[in-house]
Amino acid sequence: MLHPHSLYHDHLKPEELEFLKKAADFCVAEIAPHAAEWEEKEELPRELFTKAGRAGLMGMLAPQAVGGQGLSMLCFCLVVEEIARHCGAFAMNMAAHNALCVGHPLGFAGEELKKKIFPSVLNGDWMVAWALTEPNAGSDTGGVETTAVPLADGTWELNGHKIYITMGLHSDRMVVMAVTGQDEKGKKEFSAFWINSADIEPVRKVPTSGVRASNTSEFYLKKVRGELVGQRGRGQHAALACLDSGRLGIAAMAIGLGRAAVEIAKERMLARMQFGKRIAEFQALQFRLADCEVELRAAEALLLQPCVMHARGQRFSLEASFAKLYASEAASRAANSALQICGGWGYTRDTAVERMWRDARLCEIGEGSSEVQRLIISRALLKAAEEKYGSAEPGAAKK
Ligand SMILES: Cc1cc2nc3c(=O)[nH]c(=O)nc-3n(C[C@H](O)[C@H](O)[C@H](O)COP(=O)(O)OP(=O)(O)OC[C@H]3O[C@@H](n4cnc5c(N)ncnc54)[C@H](O)[C@@H]3O)c2cc1C
Repeated sequence: MLHPHSLYHDHLKPEELEFLKKAADFCVAEIAPHAAEWEEKEELPRELFTKAGRAGLMGMLAPQAVGGQGLSMLCFCLVVEEIARHCGAFAMNMAAHNALCVGHPLGFAGEELKKKIFPSVLNGDWMVAWALTEPNAGSDTGGVETTAVPLADGTWELNGHKIYITMGLHSDRMVVMAVTGQDEKGKKEFSAFWINSADIEPVRKVPTSGVRASNTSEFYLKKVRGELVGQRGRGQHAALACLDSGRLGIAAMAIGLGRAAVEIAKERMLARMQFGKRIAEFQALQFRLADCEVELRAAEALLLQPCVMHARGQRFSLEASFAKLYASEAASRAANSALQICGGWGYTRDTAVERMWRDARLCEIGEGSSEVQRLIISRALLKAAEEKYGSAEPGAAKK
């Protein structure tokens, strides 16, 4: 169900609103009836991705010229939010697929590679993963140890160990970040590669707390052939640019999860009787509910800003951090409150609230933890302050 108060809808073109409605119908028909079962089995069916691809959900941000939908960032976020109301794991997959797995080659690959991969990566034929994280490289991406060396035929050979990669073991193709040398200052040079996922050596599906239906995976790369995605040495720059959009997807996922959890809590407040009254009459719970709504609306407003900036062609890295940081923490608080409102029932797997609570928690970690977002934000604030004030004592300029 599309939430009626959304301030977003005025910013969508009529065809985007239509797409959003169709995506909502897709969620009701294809996701809602199965989300609990997928969670239990800890797996998403392959056909879901094929159907999602055919419905345009795998190529939302890609232009129509290459077979995508050419939707705005805002419309993409609203679709992710809608999916997250039903299944956090699939929402995370769609967010990552569109922003990172498609976004990376779309924004940075040469024409030859693009011709090979589009539209297969958009129509559900190929599932793609995006592999940056390693055992020694999480928040500090400089810790990447996977290497790529050039071969005589123009391809590269990759060796390394990746972990926590969404859909890694279920993907058909993959974008992999690897070290290709050192720059003139002796710092690692990063590049991105396109590989066939059939060539990886699986280790395991990592047993996550939430988003269990998603294939969070660990694997080795041993003498795997890869093709450069974009220019050599520009891998980190490209990855960070894709993460700006990725973080908006995670913010949207968080809002969808928070909203869905609160919806269940509201129903419960009206139905559950204690002390001869509906629990909705207890002010302690009413106030929790009010806080959830205010925070989720604030998160929506913070998400709108970078989406509008994207539509204007402006950089939105900092605003993506504001939105991701706030939305993920607000959603966790909202899901936690929703669970509390539902009491013991909320803590059981008889309701989706506890799944949403676990899924929302991921949003504070994936694609740059809350601490990393605070680092990005505070550094930007201090840099701007230094440009304005220099390092003189406060008030020195007035003396
Ligand atoms: C379900 C799931 C799916 C994922 N999917 C993908 C994927 O598809 N592709 C991919 O490449 N990666 C993926 N990741 C990895 C994810 O991006 C990382 O887990 C995340 O960036 C955090 O890195 P880390 O887990 O190594 O934590 P660490 O970097 O080890 O951080 C541990 C703690 O230290 C804090 N910390 C770290 N550095 C600082 C600092 N300088 N100042 C203050 N605090 C700091 C962190 O915030 C955190 O609280 C996924 C992870 C999960 C859980």
